[in-house]
Amino acid sequence: MNHKGSCLCKKMQYETGELSTELDHCHCTFCQKSHGAAFGTYAKVMDENSFKWISGGDDVGRYQSSSHSARLFCNACGSSLVAEIDGGKMMAITVATLDDKLDVDKAFHMFASSKVDWFEIGENETVYEEYPPYLSNFEATE
Ligand SMILES: [Zn+2]
Ligand SMILES: [Zn+2]
Repeated sequence: MNHKGSCLCKKMQYETGELSTELDHCHCTFCQKSHGAAFGTYAKVMDENSFKWISGGDDVGRYQSSSHSARLFCNACGSSLVAEIDGGKMMAITVATLDDKLDVDKAFHMFASSKVDWFEIGENETVYEEYPPYLSNFEATE
């Protein structure tokens, strides 16, 4: 199923194919700053080639936040839209920018080691101190 999303000012609009039904809530300090929030919530784009900009793509803001990940955002309103990992080999969209519904099976929390004090993770949730096992080949530098 395809999904559509956009930024706050609607300059940036994207379309993507299937998304993971497992979300990650990332509590790293980079996500906290980038989202201005306790954590960022992402869904993985299952086929990274299925992601495309419908509008605004020529003018997308890009910040290389570490050697392996770039954050794409709207230059006009600042919405954080996409994390591009390993030069685009993996892409994750910020779930809160979707304009349609995503059926979600489950979620996990990562980088709990830098979680803010004023947010509590529920007792029965899956929590990783840093990266989950499938991303463990990355250095712990968000
Ligand atoms: Zn915008
Ligand atoms: Zn993060």
